[in-house]
Amino acid sequence: MNALARAAELDLIACTVCGLVCRNVPGDPHLDGDGIDDAMACPRCGSTLRRRKPNSVARTWALLIAAFLMYIPANVLPIMRTASLHDVDDNTIISGVVELWRAGSPYLAVIVFTASIVVPVLKFLALGTLLLSSQRGSAWARPQRAKLYRLVELIGYWSMLDVFVVALLTALVRFSVLSLVEPLPGVIFFGLTVVLTMFASMSFDPRLIWDGMDSDD
Ligand SMILES: [Zn+2]
Repeated sequence: MNALARAAELDLIACTVCGLVCRNVPGDPHLDGDGIDDAMACPRCGSTLRRRKPNSVARTWALLIAAFLMYIPANVLPIMRTASLHDVDDNTIISGVVELWRAGSPYLAVIVFTASIVVPVLKFLALGTLLLSSQRGSAWARPQRAKLYRLVELIGYWSMLDVFVVALLTALVRFSVLSLVEPLPGVIFFGLTVVLTMFASMSFDPRLIWDGMDSDD
């Protein structure tokens, strides 16, 4: 056994709702009702105890792939329409960034580029790496992978930034008489990408990173 044993080796299981650490909890027939190999319930708060999130890898893959598929129309379809006296423009994410840069709002351009290109792509790569490496039970860079997961979770709170930027622009320009900014369908697909990647990172069980740890490391 390692210096730092895992809970499963010590026959301990923690309640994810109230935090109580339990040992040898009897199965509760009220939870699944078949009387065989019953699910365990937390003796303090009664929620179901699980050593790992069920089907974590398959579920995370499904959500991640769905998010990636939504990300394609999010980039191909126009996300906003800007209109002035001279012309009407439908902008995709990239052309919107270029437009903002040209129009003299480089800071806004950088924010939109970061929120809509850099962050989602890094999230896809990070979650894909976490999934592949824990599927293979890889011992590679475990502490760094755990940190990577916490970073992905932290970024999740800020991912809606791009939708906020479009909303903000819309609100700002509504007050001006000469021009108009309107959100277009691309924004919906971008919103779906953000929500699906958030669910993907939530359904990944970071404890999988430490599974399959050999006794010699
Ligand atoms: Zn509990």
